[in-house]
Amino acid sequence: MKITAFAGGVGGAKFAHGLAQILPPEDLTVIVNTGDDFEHLGLFISPDLDTVCYTLAELANPETGWGRMDETWNTISNIEKLGGPAWFRLGDKDFGTHIERTRRLKEGKTLSQVTQEFCEAWGIKPKVLPMSNAPVRTMVNTDEGELEFQEYFVHRHCEPVVKSFRFDGAEIAEAAPGVIEALEAADAVIFCPSNPWVSIDPILKVVKTITKPVVAISPIIGGKTVKGPAAKMFRELGIEPSAFAVAKHYRNILSGFVLDNEDLNLEKSISQLNIKTLATDTLMKQPTDRARLANDVLHFIRSLQ
Ligand code: GDP
Repeated sequence: MKITAFAGGVGGAKFAHGLAQILPPEDLTVIVNTGDDFEHLGLFISPDLDTVCYTLAELANPETGWGRMDETWNTISNIEKLGGPAWFRLGDKDFGTHIERTRRLKEGKTLSQVTQEFCEAWGIKPKVLPMSNAPVRTMVNTDEGELEFQEYFVHRHCEPVVKSFRFDGAEIAEAAPGVIEALEAADAVIFCPSNPWVSIDPILKVVKTITKPVVAISPIIGGKTVKGPAAKMFRELGIEPSAFAVAKHYRNILSGFVLDNEDLNLEKSISQLNIKTLATDTLMKQPTDRARLANDVLHFIRSLQ
């Protein structure tokens, strides 16, 4: 079964790693959000692409889910001592990725070319594609005005109250080479358990239409996020955060929805949206949970066909 998965950072990467453990590499394409990308310290940083690649290459920091394992922090500490901007924590190994990516982009390569080259170097077999090679920038409209995504997310710790989101450049950005082809070749599309507002929506804005069955996995369990601001965002936008709210958010494109066993009480209301459901254990605490959940989701997709 050929799968094209949409992913943000930490939640998306863990599930993509599960899929990568059970699907032949040629049957998996992961399309990654680039709305979080930004330029910082003169470097081009693509946080979600790096999280997905580090995770698939089994190089990711197991505690944070982002960044590299066995990392050291000499460069950023030195920048801090010199009075430079140190709020975006970059480890020494991670710096290497950004320096080399920036160098190749400046040589005229595209983000997809550089991503493909990095994947080869890291031994990543499934295809990992940025959603677009054109800049798309997630902007967060808050009670303190419009903020660039990393300013809101990292520098301001998601404190400003969210009013809406805007994906600057998305209307004219073309999907990266291979994205539309992967969607056409797929038997099904999976939205990983990523933030609907700022990880999956930017990809949808670029991709625009999906003609294949779509299944989403809830990033919200028991009304809470496992990590990150998705539940806070729902609340601030006037929506009670829940797996139901996630299903409703995607209702026009979903064939199936995967919710946690903890949210069994919501299954009926999600079915009433005309969406098939699977309730299972969706928390990926250990690496083995990833493949188990991916297996459950693939069985569910087969049952829909
Ligand atoms: P980010 O760009 O690093 O914020 O990453 P994503 O958007 O891909 O993932 C963030 C979302 O993943 C959050 O809403 C989390 O609740 C969710 N998430 C993280 N780990 C898990 C997990 O083990 N299971 C589920 N169901 N969701 C998870």
